[in-house]
Amino acid sequence: MKVVIIGGGWAGCSAAITAKKAGAEVHLYERTDLLLGLGNVGGIMRNNGRFTAAEELIEMGAGELIGITDELSRHKNIDFPGHKHAWLYDVNKIEPVVKDLLQDMGINIHLVARVTDVMLENHQIKGIYIENEELVEGDVFIETTGSTGPMGNCLKYGNGCAMCILRCPAFGPRVSLSARAGIEDFQGEREDGSLGAFSGSCKLSKESLSQEIKEKLDKEGVVIINIPPEDVNIDKLKSKVCQQYALKEFAENIILLDTGSAKLMTTYYPLEKLRKLKGLEKAKYIDPYAGGKGNSIRYLSMAPRTDDMKVKGIDNMFCAGEKSGLFVGHTEAIATGALAGHNAVRYALGIPLLILPSSTAIGDIISYANYKLLSRKGRKNRYTFAGAEYFERMNKLGLYTTNIEEIKNRVRKLNLNDILSQKLI
Ligand SMILES: Cc1cc2nc3c(=O)[nH]c(=O)nc-3n(C[C@H](O)[C@H](O)[C@H](O)COP(=O)(O)OP(=O)(O)OC[C@H]3O[C@@H](n4cnc5c(N)ncnc54)[C@H](O)[C@@H]3O)c2cc1C
Repeated sequence: MKVVIIGGGWAGCSAAITAKKAGAEVHLYERTDLLLGLGNVGGIMRNNGRFTAAEELIEMGAGELIGITDELSRHKNIDFPGHKHAWLYDVNKIEPVVKDLLQDMGINIHLVARVTDVMLENHQIKGIYIENEELVEGDVFIETTGSTGPMGNCLKYGNGCAMCILRCPAFGPRVSLSARAGIEDFQGEREDGSLGAFSGSCKLSKESLSQEIKEKLDKEGVVIINIPPEDVNIDKLKSKVCQQYALKEFAENIILLDTGSAKLMTTYYPLEKLRKLKGLEKAKYIDPYAGGKGNSIRYLSMAPRTDDMKVKGIDNMFCAGEKSGLFVGHTEAIATGALAGHNAVRYALGIPLLILPSSTAIGDIISYANYKLLSRKGRKNRYTFAGAEYFERMNKLGLYTTNIEEIKNRVRKLNLNDILSQKLI
């Protein structure tokens, strides 16, 4: 059985692992020369409800990627405004480690392989076309192309191509394969009704910061610097993807986190203003390169799906990560990817698909985000274990806990322990 995955971000890598463990031959196609997509620039794990979700994943048998992010954490259990017990993985070291794991597992990775179209017959995908027009056939397909770009979207809904990690000018634009198969995409909205949202953080070169800031970042993981009142821009918070950081503390302060580079927790911030701050006089953006003016635009392309991650209207296509809803985060991409990979194999074998119950945080966010997509108001929100609306819900429902035994018991009582590492073939 051949499972074909399109998009090698956290969601695609996670889907590849569970599909492989279920016994399929797995091929992963990625348009750039790096796996992990946006995972090469984020780094924050285990903050707030992401801790619970990470432990659920481990107990369900899909802990490999969490194991790597834990292992490569530069800082553990740090707090910053609105966020508790965050772990920060090193974004400059993570990609080759994940690539090695996938290769060691026998997953076939195809880099610089942009998928441009699908071959469809009676609601079934027969194959995908790679840019050079090669046709790749398969039994089941999983789309994990994210929601960022193509460049035209960053021009139309943002401040231009910000030269982000996805590097569209060189590797070519994202393609929505479910849309190519005739299924209309959903789009996320901002508070004012405009489409998409700005990515909410940038990276500065640590070498461009003062020695004092650099040392504090290395030692403590966080540096908070007050912004002069004339430069505070509260309104900008509304345009951000990451509503979990749309708190006034993030407008009134520059918050820097150490992820190998210095992660600046705001979307585009003019360089001239940034350099007014003590210690940042020589600051330089390294992601996106145009971080003083713009950032990437996301959430313009989500596929309608059921809670087992199957794309509605196509028999043999699944989706995960940002492509599968207004999800923000690595943990969210890994969790949805793990379920999609496992279910792809169940589908091909003709056995019932797994839907995770709402008594788990992962099952609940998958169904809640899906339900919320139906309303315009719901499309203005993003869904993450880390904060904003969904973390409030986790608290209200008693789903949030950092008690590992309690999380394990929750999963075991449902007989879901190791379910995602089951060999089905
Ligand atoms: C600047 C920034 C900082 C962030 N920081 C954090 C953080 O600290 N913590 C956190 O949890 N989350 C963070 N996020 C959010 C998080 O990174 C994403 O929500 C998550 O990684 C999305 O994963 P994904 O696999 O769904 O999509 P992506 O990472 O977008 O991956 C999609 C992949 O598909 C590929 N692709 C697209 N089209 C094609 C095609 N046609 N053919 C082949 N390949 C294709 C792309 O090249 C890409 O590699 C951040 C996001 C950004 C932009």
